[in-house]
Amino acid sequence: MNTILEVKNIEKYFGTSSNVVKALDDVSLLVNEGDFIAIMGPSGGGKSTLLNCMSTIDNASSGEVKLAGQSLVNMKQKHIDKIRKQDIGFIFQDFSLISTLNGYDNIALAQTLAGQQVDSAKINEIAQVLSIGDDLLKYEDELSGGQKQRVAAARALIKNPKILFADEPTGSLDTKTSRDLLDNFCQINEQLGTTIVMVTHDLQSASFAREVVFLKDGKIYNKIIRLEHETQEQFRMRINDVYVLICEER
Ligand code: ADP
Repeated sequence: MNTILEVKNIEKYFGTSSNVVKALDDVSLLVNEGDFIAIMGPSGGGKSTLLNCMSTIDNASSGEVKLAGQSLVNMKQKHIDKIRKQDIGFIFQDFSLISTLNGYDNIALAQTLAGQQVDSAKINEIAQVLSIGDDLLKYEDELSGGQKQRVAAARALIKNPKILFADEPTGSLDTKTSRDLLDNFCQINEQLGTTIVMVTHDLQSASFAREVVFLKDGKIYNKIIRLEHETQEQFRMRINDVYVLICEER
């Protein structure tokens, strides 16, 4: 199994000397090609910060992040931009759609930026899967929170990224749409081998992953892997047990 992402002893500080927050404290993590990892833990534990440092959005204060064997510390910005456009899909909490483009054009732009031809059949197909087939001509201010989230997911998935980073991707979705989106994650993970790293505080969402990394107070607290014969429900219960333990120990 090839390692696609390596996080080595990273620390992340925010603020100035009089008011410093240590958001990540000596975090190390290996992500192999084809992994589907959920990062869970109490609010303020450093989940989004870790995702940002792993995904080129932010830099760690110390330590190293290597993407496909190359250290982000030494990488030229131009190279980082190329990797972002071609190989990385992002689904952010705040959607980050371009408000002057409709849903279709937001998705098509991601394909163009990745150096691919705009493929309207593929855009329509993925929109159908995510139940936004009738909403593609709408602009951000005409879409509900859930619809924006699904346009953001379609935009991330359209270019078949090597690695998908998702921060609370089901945060504003109802149960059925959450399940559809996560089924879609499983499908691209299993069929296309897309590596997925997803931050979530939702047990049900985490149970779709094959590995759950628990983060607390900026440190990795525990990791659990779904067993070969374990059902999703059994895995969800195990995730719940660790999660309850973490929260009780606060
Ligand atoms: P989580 O995603 O687990 O809720 P975060 O990564 O958002 O946690 O935050 C971890 C810690 O870092 C928190 O104490 C948070 O207040 C702090 N933090 C995150 N981003 C910033 C920032 N831009 N400026 C200052 N503090 C921040």
